[in-house]
Amino acid sequence: MDDDYYLSCEEDEEEKEEEEDDYDKDDNDQYEQAHRDESTKSTSQIITNESLVAAQKEVLVRVMELLTLKKSQARTLLIHYRWNVDKLLDVYSERGKESLFKTAGLTVFAHTSLSESRYSLRKKMTCEICMDDDLQSYTMTRMDCGHCFCNNCWKEHFTVKINEGMSKRITCMAHKCNAICDEDVVKKLVYPELAEKFDRFLVESYVDDNKRVKWCPSTPHCGNAIRREDDGGEVECSCGHQFCFSCLSESHSPCSCLMWKLWKKKCEDESETLNWITVHTRMCPKCSKAVQRSDGCNLMTCICGQHFCWLCGGATGVSHTWTTIDGHSCGKFKEEKVRQMERAKRDLKRYTHYYHQYRSHTDSSKQEFKLRESVREKVASLSEKTHKSEQKWASNGADLLFRSRKVLSYTYVFAFYMFGEELFKDEMSDEEREMKKILFENLQQQLIGYIERLSKTLNQPFDYYSSDELEKMNDETMRFGIVVDNLCKEMYECIENELLGPTVAGHNHSIAPYRSEGIEKAIEFGADMV
Ligand SMILES: [Zn+2]
Ligand SMILES: [Zn+2]
Ligand SMILES: [Zn+2]
Ligand SMILES: [Zn+2]
Ligand SMILES: [Zn+2]
Ligand SMILES: [Zn+2]
Ligand SMILES: [Zn+2]
Repeated sequence: MDDDYYLSCEEDEEEKEEEEDDYDKDDNDQYEQAHRDESTKSTSQIITNESLVAAQKEVLVRVMELLTLKKSQARTLLIHYRWNVDKLLDVYSERGKESLFKTAGLTVFAHTSLSESRYSLRKKMTCEICMDDDLQSYTMTRMDCGHCFCNNCWKEHFTVKINEGMSKRITCMAHKCNAICDEDVVKKLVYPELAEKFDRFLVESYVDDNKRVKWCPSTPHCGNAIRREDDGGEVECSCGHQFCFSCLSESHSPCSCLMWKLWKKKCEDESETLNWITVHTRMCPKCSKAVQRSDGCNLMTCICGQHFCWLCGGATGVSHTWTTIDGHSCGKFKEEKVRQMERAKRDLKRYTHYYHQYRSHTDSSKQEFKLRESVREKVASLSEKTHKSEQKWASNGADLLFRSRKVLSYTYVFAFYMFGEELFKDEMSDEEREMKKILFENLQQQLIGYIERLSKTLNQPFDYYSSDELEKMNDETMRFGIVVDNLCKEMYECIENELLGPTVAGHNHSIAPYRSEGIEKAIEFGADMV
């Protein structure tokens, strides 16, 4: 049985049996153990401010040991390869150490020992930057690339770079030299506060330049980053924020990142307002104000006193009937103009329809977010009153309700693009589109029906229920829950196999998978290593 929801139902069955038997501690431990094992399977980890250094060190040490490097060298390499150890090692095994080092701005053999003697023989040295020719060798610093300048010039260079926020890859000052300066030298030469800032940049590079690690996009920012082994998908931070790991927006499955981006823009955009204006107003030919049509009459009158024709926008006299204006024959009347208007009208109507559905389910999901809390409270107060273990089915049901409602609301955004002309215009015939739309809307309708039933069931004041009433509510919650869960799965299968799958453009739309147990919760960094 691979059905997770069924599994969680079974657990609840066991729970109930436990209630009836005497409370058995061993069983409970096993239950908790099973849950712990499950949670460590998480492919996402939370990296807090405190564990950031440790998370980075783990990778640094790996590269240092594999290639026998200094920490600063390992970090320069990793920053260059965007913390992708596999890629770094591929380059190493394919092209060798020298090539690996060179592309990252490192020198395999440091020049220090090579030319030390030559420099120390000469009493006075010259800095090629400031042209000071009266310098002792100890006031000069030579980088691994061999270029040597006075400490004041280096310090000036580093300070500027760090303040510019370019400190992750500070290159050598010499003309056309792309070597990366040793981070230890940088830290030694700049003011301590700046060295600290520099260090912070280096540490945060692990998040900023790393495809597998991203800052949690919560506002206000919770301070966490999430490391994820899988590409894309959705994840929940310990702060409770659920987001799409690909585009960092709020979670939006089964809508693709591209669809979600277009939709958000559309909702904010002036274009819909423009559509509304095109459909409902005409510009006065005299003063250029937009005039709204108040009834079906074709004669418009602007507040400036100008009369004009609704159909063509041309200035007219005042005398008219319902359909004609005296002395006016719609001379500039253009087919194209009417078509444009009809199109704007149709687009606006279509958008409005999907938007209202989307909004109404989003609003419900906000209500059900609160319901989830109140169900938890009722579960807690019930277990306190009855001295029995918690009615987990109720809180599980509320969780399912909340996430399936969110899925439902995003299916409208998906449908808006799937069956619209913007993204999939030439992918199917009109008949095919209509057929698929009916299939999808049929699933949506079924899902709405069961979600509403589940919602109604969970809205009951069950903290005052008798055990018979509770039993009945438990049954209903389970029954509706299983159907809701299965319908969600069916919906995703339909999207994958019937809708996006057969299209060419569908490959640009990866949909974060549906999970019965909800969006994956990231676990603390290091929790899976204990
Ligand atoms: Zn100098
Ligand atoms: Zn250099
Ligand atoms: Zn967070
Ligand atoms: Zn996304
Ligand atoms: Zn006017
Ligand atoms: Zn009239
Ligand atoms: Zn006209």
